[in-house]
Amino acid sequence: MALRESRQYSTPKLLSAQTLVHYGLHFVFPVVLALVFFPLMWQTAYLTMLATMLVDLDHLMAKPIFDPLRCSVGYHPLHSFYAIPVYALLLLLPATQTIAVGLLFHMFTDTVDCLWSFSHCRECYLNSRIYALRNWVRKLSGREVAK
Ligand SMILES: [Zn+2]
Repeated sequence: MALRESRQYSTPKLLSAQTLVHYGLHFVFPVVLALVFFPLMWQTAYLTMLATMLVDLDHLMAKPIFDPLRCSVGYHPLHSFYAIPVYALLLLLPATQTIAVGLLFHMFTDTVDCLWSFSHCRECYLNSRIYALRNWVRKLSGREVAK
């Protein structure tokens, strides 16, 4: 049991499948999004989507700056549940649509990474803002919240 717990908190491997998928979604998949949603200006759209990676600068406000067991979605200010609806509103303005797609896809990518981490770290899930949001929604809908 002790061995299992220590493995649970080990530092993620640099070239794990999770890391490859995460950075593939951040850097490669936006090419597909640019070609599908903005075919006439896909290069500009791709570079704009890459630029939306700047939202990760909000990690600099956290202590520690990088924590492999922390889910960024809901935690950092530009990854918060207040910021994400604003990104969705940016879809309504043609001038900000590439930024909106980049930001929303960034949040999707980070969420995938969080869910992958939760699959091998239950404590990470229980400490995440995603779990807190889940409980808040369950409470609002009158459903039981597990302790
Ligand atoms: Zn991020």
